[in-house]
Amino acid sequence: MNVIVIGAQWGDEGKGKVVDIYSAKAEYIVRYQGGNNAGHTLVVNGKKTILHLIPSGILHPGKVCIIANGVVFDPTVFFEEVESLHQSKAFGTALPNEVIRVSERAHVILPYHRTLDRLREEYAAKGAGKIGTTVRGIGPAYEDKAARRGIQVIDLLRPELLRTKLERAIEEKNILLKHHFKAPLIELNPLYEEGLKLGEKLKPFVSNVRALLQEALRGQRPILFEGAQGTLLDVDHGTYPYVTSSNTVAGGAMTGSGLGLNIKAKVIGISKAYTTRVGTGPFPTEIEKTEKETAERIRSVGAEFGATTGRPRRTGWLDLVALKYAVEVNGLDGIALMKADVLNGFDFIKVCTAYRLGGTTLYDLPSSIEDLERVEPAYEVIPGWLSYDQSQTKHREDLPSELRDYMRMIEDYLGVPIVLMSTGPGRDETLIFSDPFGQ
Ligand code: GDP
Repeated sequence: MNVIVIGAQWGDEGKGKVVDIYSAKAEYIVRYQGGNNAGHTLVVNGKKTILHLIPSGILHPGKVCIIANGVVFDPTVFFEEVESLHQSKAFGTALPNEVIRVSERAHVILPYHRTLDRLREEYAAKGAGKIGTTVRGIGPAYEDKAARRGIQVIDLLRPELLRTKLERAIEEKNILLKHHFKAPLIELNPLYEEGLKLGEKLKPFVSNVRALLQEALRGQRPILFEGAQGTLLDVDHGTYPYVTSSNTVAGGAMTGSGLGLNIKAKVIGISKAYTTRVGTGPFPTEIEKTEKETAERIRSVGAEFGATTGRPRRTGWLDLVALKYAVEVNGLDGIALMKADVLNGFDFIKVCTAYRLGGTTLYDLPSSIEDLERVEPAYEVIPGWLSYDQSQTKHREDLPSELRDYMRMIEDYLGVPIVLMSTGPGRDETLIFSDPFGQ
């Protein structure tokens, strides 16, 4: 069996921890969408490493970590991460290019993508249209991919083609830079020279990843697909336009890695026991204004600050309407419920089970974000639970009864089981109810 790990909310659900746990069972770990806008904090041999691009499975010796075609790939960031992992001896006796493979077809983030991302956000900040991107060039690189003027990894290895492709890629951008942003123009020659250098350095890592994964499937080698961001940030199914530029839903694992729908995979959605969101956009169960103290308590206990930017995350109660939507658009087989410990000691917990809009009750996400901005969450209020000794809690029956009731309510509403429950950041603070690889 193979496993696809998906963020079931707005990202930051704790995918890193679940991927780390599931990696032990997998032989291949695949990033298939997004770019270096994901962020996982890992501690290797006592040294903290933040990975944005290389799959977190790299911490498990003997695994093959793959950056597949659906990713937009920043070579500069990639080499920084390889270097940092090398310094912390994460590769052991293996060579980095023996354990990391990069798809020939992945699109490359070039310096002008980052420049455009930044200029756009600065420009938008003057008006009302700021998306709150990570300004790493992800969006502009995906735009070029869709506009058929992207540069793929394989192009960096073909000097004779690269120049022509770059020339075509920057033509329109220079018009935009000159007339719209009044910013310095992109110069072809230094860009080309840099591209060639990066290509040469990248060569040992580049591979036909699709064929490699097909081979793995034939050999029944377990594959773990590591989703980045979250369902509600999907470019098609998220709260558009406050979304990321790729398909974060489970279907993205197939298009982003070149495998077909006949692969046997369990899809596990990662959700916190509450909800957070970074940046702008609708968030029905947000409690910043109405329940300020609770919002602050969740933020400080849950350390809800951006891993890279330090930005405080917006916080709110669990939204079962949105989570049910995630179950449907991803075809989730199970939920990993994270950070339940953050809600320890609350007298009561609120859970959103429907939205009210005008005089009507909704059980599904409205398609228009203007409507989603206006919905009022309908809450069920349930008793909270006291703190308990997490390290001594090994089975579901050991959890406080109120927490078990909360879990049952979530499962009944969603119609899928909670397969894993996280009660703290540590590996051992995890209850595993069933193993998706073993089914
Ligand atoms: P990701 O991007 O989805 O992997 O999420 P992040 O890595 O940004 O956020 C997860 C953060 O929460 C990390 O700092 C984890 O160590 C921490 N974390 C994960 N699970 C738990 C949990 O069950 N309880 C607590 N208190 N922290 C957790």
